[in-house]
Amino acid sequence: KQIKVAIDGPAGAGKSTIAKAVAQRLGIFYVDTGAMYRAIALKTLRSSIPIDREEEVGQMVQKTEIVLEHSEARRVFCDGKDVTVAIRNPEVSRAVSKIAAYPIVRERLVQLQRQEAERGAVIMDGRDIGTVVLPQADLKIFLTASPEERAYRRWLELRNSGKELSLAEVQHDMENRDKQDSEREVAPLVPAEDALILDTTGLSIEKIVDQIITLTAQ
Ligand code: C5P
Repeated sequence: KQIKVAIDGPAGAGKSTIAKAVAQRLGIFYVDTGAMYRAIALKTLRSSIPIDREEEVGQMVQKTEIVLEHSEARRVFCDGKDVTVAIRNPEVSRAVSKIAAYPIVRERLVQLQRQEAERGAVIMDGRDIGTVVLPQADLKIFLTASPEERAYRRWLELRNSGKELSLAEVQHDMENRDKQDSEREVAPLVPAEDALILDTTGLSIEKIVDQIITLTAQ
């Protein structure tokens, strides 16, 4: 059986780190859906289209090709360009929730994500995987952690990639993004009814990965 695992939750809850580790241990695909929304936000920022022009952004999405590499490097390509590093910029993080609220953008990306899931056993992370993208997933996990810990983790990540933001700034950006993601009309960030809610505050990555692997075997 080709298992499908959905991981959702707010920013900085540890979704991608955990999903990557689970994928590696189980030898299954990992699909980072946030990278797709980020690629569209980056392309909009680099274009002459103002981010609040829903219709124009929507038209652009139809003409955009996004490829997620499944190799170790997990590079992200947008229209043939390597955007792996650029999509993690704070400017993209600040803009992404705006375009992620546009139904037409979501429709197109959900379609791409379902295609990815058809390739085989997969663990996919995002905001609406258990509720919209893969409602039939075998296992749905909703990861959370305290806002302080989530901001701290994201701050560390940014610092490790050479971006010196203050912790307060990171926490502020994150709160804004979570608020927009939770309050939007289409596919808001909420746990699926049948999701298992895991609070990762103070827990080690290995513990959570072990727990998820045990759950996939049941
Ligand atoms: O996962 P990541 O933090 O990279 O996601 C960036 C943004 O993309 C989120 O804040 C959200 O606005 C959007 N997103 C989404 N649905 C998903 C994945 C990401 O709306 N499935």
